[in-house]
Amino acid sequence: MNLDFTPKECCGLFGIWGHNQASYLTYLGLYALQHRGEEACGIVSSDGKEVFQYKGMGLVGDVFNGEIIKSLPGDRAIGHTRYSTTGASLLKNVQPILVNYSQGTIAIAHNGNLVNALALHNKLEKEGSIFQTSSDSEILIHLMARAKAKGHLEALLKSLRFLEGAYCFLLLTPSALFAVRDQRGFRPLWLGKLDKAYVFSSETCAFDLIGAEPLREVEPGEVMVVDEKGLRSFKPFRERVIPSFCIFEHIYFSRPDSKIFGETVHLVRERLGRKLAQEHPVEAELIIPVPDSGASAALGFSQESKIPLEYGIIRNHYIGRTFIQPFQLIRDFRVKIKFNLLKDVLKGKRIVVVDDSIVRGTTSQIRVRNLREAGAKEVHLRISCPPHKFPCFYGIDFPTRKELLGARFKIKEIEKFLNVDSLGYLSLEGMLSCVKAYPQENYCVACFTGNYPVKFGREGDKFALERKCCGE
Ligand code: SF4
Repeated sequence: MNLDFTPKECCGLFGIWGHNQASYLTYLGLYALQHRGEEACGIVSSDGKEVFQYKGMGLVGDVFNGEIIKSLPGDRAIGHTRYSTTGASLLKNVQPILVNYSQGTIAIAHNGNLVNALALHNKLEKEGSIFQTSSDSEILIHLMARAKAKGHLEALLKSLRFLEGAYCFLLLTPSALFAVRDQRGFRPLWLGKLDKAYVFSSETCAFDLIGAEPLREVEPGEVMVVDEKGLRSFKPFRERVIPSFCIFEHIYFSRPDSKIFGETVHLVRERLGRKLAQEHPVEAELIIPVPDSGASAALGFSQESKIPLEYGIIRNHYIGRTFIQPFQLIRDFRVKIKFNLLKDVLKGKRIVVVDDSIVRGTTSQIRVRNLREAGAKEVHLRISCPPHKFPCFYGIDFPTRKELLGARFKIKEIEKFLNVDSLGYLSLEGMLSCVKAYPQENYCVACFTGNYPVKFGREGDKFALERKCCGE
């Protein structure tokens, strides 16, 4: 995991229907999904009559406490962990967003990015909509308000056809919970069961924590409704499209103990590491994983190469959102505070460092320098995916193309820039051969190839809506 990339994550969703500890279980669910968004979080619950809300900036464990959970009664709830992919970092943009509209009260939580957000926003504003937030997620509510429908469900089904891009939604009204996944299924969303309660989560790791049984993934293009009548499924889209599961969820975003897109993330990463060792073998004495997301791939690399795995980089997990950087005093402080090196392991050794990706490259450059200073004799870098050359418009907040190291330089130039003895990226074919649950064309690889499965115009720029709303 690269520090120059760390905070740019997408969002986590959790929802539950039919359990008297709904808000507490949602809190636990969000805790398990913390890695999907560390900026802010929120929970909306309902007792079937009223709706209750609490949200704040910061980590789940910091925002919520026992008193706050008690102030969220009811047997149904949805929650959200957030890093903004659109919408500035303001409390009003923290989700779930709770609104009253023509059909009643509704809360909405979103994971993804709408590529036609600016166009829809402009159109809706011209027609009289007044937006409360600068987040693309609110657009769905305005579409539903204008849908000329009988009830929330009909309004939702009528509105979804206007949305383009990547989205999973959880929506809660006093009388129903809705789960929605876009036609391409870019982001994961699971359905599970806990006793008689239905639960939804971006990843199965949240189910494990609360003891829920995963039933199945919400299918691409599926809308699920849970209410007093039970669980129902709708397929509102007539045309069938090929799925575009985000392969980067497997490489970096999702937790290794989760199952997404039909496979356990750890096992996919292990295969990526094995393949990487086949494609880029190296004479070395130790395999060193970059914690945490490089760990499974490093294990696979070690198994395939028969070079022992050793922990030479130790991650400090207890870093707050901000700290005072002692400029000048300690060189490379930002990298060092997060990763410390085991000098006695590294000294005099030829090492292979296995990482999941390089984005801007500045962190990798500093890390290599620190590894050499710690005594490593040779540093060989292996990356468990191809070079990132293009930004993502579907909910992962990569920097612009001109900042992506893989777009700026050839491999040999990157090798020189990072000052490594050798550098090897996994090939596109190699990466795709490691995902087994679906045919290869069912995965989005646009940030590596530039072949975007959902087209967009200028308004596809994920900051366009923000610039408009914030007047930048
Ligand atoms: S462009 Fe990359 S990060 Fe974005 S959805 Fe596709 S594979 Fe995932």
